Amino acid sequence: MSAIFHSPLADIPLPPLQSIFSYYLPAKPRYPDYAALTDGATGRSITVAQLRSDSLRLGLGIQRLLKLPGSQQTVAVIYSPNNVDFAQIFYGCQAVRLVTSLANASYTASELAHQLRDGEPSIIFVHPSIYDAYLGACKLLETEGQRLPKVFWAVPENEVPKELLESGTGVKSYQALLVDETAVQGFEGIPANGEEAHETALLCYSSGTTGLAKGVMSTHHGVNVNGEISARSWYPDNMVHGKGSTILSACPLYHIYGLIEAAIVPLLKGVPVIILPKFTPEGFFRAIRDYKTTHAIVVPPMVLHLASNPLAANYDLSALKWMRCAAAPLGKGLIRKVKSRLGDDVHITQGYGLTEVTCLCAAQTVADAISSPGSVGRLYPCLQAQVVDEDLRPAKVGESGELCIKGPTIMKGYWRNEEATQASFTPDGWYRSGDIAHIDPNGHIYIVDRLKELIKYKGFQVPPADLEKLLLTNPKVADVAVIGVHSREFATELPRAYVVPAEGMAAMNAKERNDLSKDLVTWVEQNVANHKRLRGGCILIDSIPKSAAGKILRKQLRAMAKAEQDEA
Ligand code: AMP
Repeated sequence: MSAIFHSPLADIPLPPLQSIFSYYLPAKPRYPDYAALTDGATGRSITVAQLRSDSLRLGLGIQRLLKLPGSQQTVAVIYSPNNVDFAQIFYGCQAVRLVTSLANASYTASELAHQLRDGEPSIIFVHPSIYDAYLGACKLLETEGQRLPKVFWAVPENEVPKELLESGTGVKSYQALLVDETAVQGFEGIPANGEEAHETALLCYSSGTTGLAKGVMSTHHGVNVNGEISARSWYPDNMVHGKGSTILSACPLYHIYGLIEAAIVPLLKGVPVIILPKFTPEGFFRAIRDYKTTHAIVVPPMVLHLASNPLAANYDLSALKWMRCAAAPLGKGLIRKVKSRLGDDVHITQGYGLTEVTCLCAAQTVADAISSPGSVGRLYPCLQAQVVDEDLRPAKVGESGELCIKGPTIMKGYWRNEEATQASFTPDGWYRSGDIAHIDPNGHIYIVDRLKELIKYKGFQVPPADLEKLLLTNPKVADVAVIGVHSREFATELPRAYVVPAEGMAAMNAKERNDLSKDLVTWVEQNVANHKRLRGGCILIDSIPKSAAGKILRKQLRAMAKAEQDEA
């Protein structure tokens, strides 16, 4: 049997080579006009027709402002939590083929500065609630002599707090860029026909297998193929315009999963989407009740709330019939628990993907979820997968090894980082996922471990290198390694630091050690985005286990953490 797996589903005809904008918002609409996106918190909606026409108006406004040539690699950043404007700005950028770089809305100034330094954007759209962090990033960049982007609010003017409007920032709303409707007559955006469809459209940041966050170059064609596969092969039959389906998502639009599943693919099916600015259990339950959402895009900790949060009992959740859960492992026990609470007719189908493969590359159908509950599903059509051993030799069928993937949705590489790009592909062009998996004879994929350093807190990436770099700047730290420890209670991994104190363990008594580990947890908290906090604690040790070449032996640390957990 060949070691190369194809999808058990027949390949689909690939969409024609074109831009994201013209594929998802075509001049001839697929469905009659409908509310494509609604902000579940404010009730503000945007119809698909408005999304298209205002994207063209915004795109043309940006093109004039930046004096863009016809084809370019100019970068725009969106730094905002979820709202309908996010989608509007995204498609406005896409209309004129800006490379759209999405920044995590909880980033601190230095984390944002990393992304701005890397992308060198010409324009940025900032949500007023995080303007201070943006200013902090600018200060850092100015001291380095970096060019700063033109800045606009990522919300309408009337949503900018008065104090900010009056404080003389000089910043205008993105809506000030919208040209007159008459000016866009005959304008269809900047096309990406032929080879141009293979250019970078999107930069979401991922640490990949090692190191700091890097810009993942997703192409127009990659996004279009992913959407087409998802909509054709993995959407339940009733998830189509006019059948009463509505999707709920609290997943962030700045992460590839939230963006593609909530703001991109549903346009192919004409299904309305309710987005929430962020996940709160009550907000989520309320939205299911008020908007009667039939489908939801979730990550495991949200499933945990649906399964066991007592507040759920206050809401009628009976509209919800299907959930797609991805971005992190979902345990079988939790699946059983949520079904026993919501009812056996509520389906929860897992998906598996990575930023580097342009969102999901495997998913379960409802039938798969019933027959093979622990699996992440079967490979998407048009892709190939291979499981390899440490020497990149094909593993035997059913054996575990690193999952490698090939196909039209794989990233072009990391933005301006040829070294990291090369390291993430095998010599014969397979993308190395850094995940350990096995595939059963029916093509069901099981993710069993992670080879790469990455930690995932509630679906968010926490690159250990980020925290290690930060902790090493603290004079009380001589050496450090960060790993993820699994928490059953919160259905997620928690970042934990193992620290060698500068003072030396022997020189410290028990109280001093305890104080230092607490202080370091607090200090990290003050310097990183919320999802990177050391919720798994900080443990002081004599030395960090390392290989002869100086590489941190994370496996050994993970075994230590597991032993500590088993003891507790
Ligand atoms: P990201 O690029 O942020 O989407 O992170 C991708 C990584 O998340 C993968 O390489 C996996 O380690 C993990 N991941 C995504 N989906 C799943 C899943 N269904 N089960 C287990 N791990 C997952």
